[in-house]
Amino acid sequence: MSVPVIYDAERKGTVLRIERSSVHDGPGLRTVLFLKGCPLRCQWCSTPESQAFEIEQSDTYSYGTIMSVEEVMRELRKDSLFFFISTGGITVSGGEIMAQPNFTRAVLKNCRNECMHTAIETSFFAQWETIHSILPFVNLAFVDVKFFTKELHEKYCGVDNTLILENLLKTNDIEEKFQLVVRTPIIPGLNDSEEELNQIGQFCSRLKKLSYVQLLPYHKLGTATYSKLGREYLLGDIASPTASDMEKHVKIIERYVENVIF
Ligand code: SF4
Repeated sequence: MSVPVIYDAERKGTVLRIERSSVHDGPGLRTVLFLKGCPLRCQWCSTPESQAFEIEQSDTYSYGTIMSVEEVMRELRKDSLFFFISTGGITVSGGEIMAQPNFTRAVLKNCRNECMHTAIETSFFAQWETIHSILPFVNLAFVDVKFFTKELHEKYCGVDNTLILENLLKTNDIEEKFQLVVRTPIIPGLNDSEEELNQIGQFCSRLKKLSYVQLLPYHKLGTATYSKLGREYLLGDIASPTASDMEKHVKIIERYVENVIF
């Protein structure tokens, strides 16, 4: 069997890890390529080891490795049979995938050339030209809307969300066909007020490519990693929302958007 030619094979990126058999990052079984580096600092981030752009090392842990596009493709290709059987594919996640745009684009382009279904998980905090250059190689885009209120986004995620919301609206006017899913992590006391959820729902109703909205209940997975990195976890006292809380939040978003899940 001939091995496909790899576009931009020697290009290198900083990879956090590759995880196999995920069922939470798109349809079917997914192999998830996590990249290092994120310009945001969400206080609830469950992968704090993905935030720094450089490789981090402690006595017992090493977070990140440099890989070429060819090395990544060799790993992703190992799961082709599972993708076929489960109608799954690959998901590029972070960190922020738009922060390594040339590497991200090359991996996605090669995956599409090899008929793999491609998904991305992103904050959309990047220049529109960067995002637009990557979307032609994407089947499914998960984009977070963590807050509508700019000041809250800045306070809890470290950056203003104007660029993110503008970029989402720009997807209305492009020809590329991809499935858009907005994800909102529900952080009790931070973004679960009726007013904030109403505004998020209203905003999502303006997105022409929207497939559905997914609300994600806050959890504390990943807090142990903060200790390993010698960092303080700032949201320690917040409890996860109950199923009944989540159902109420779904109902608010459903005032504006037909398909809402949690
Ligand atoms: S955007 Fe994602 S990876 Fe970046 S800090 Fe927020 S939760 Fe963490």
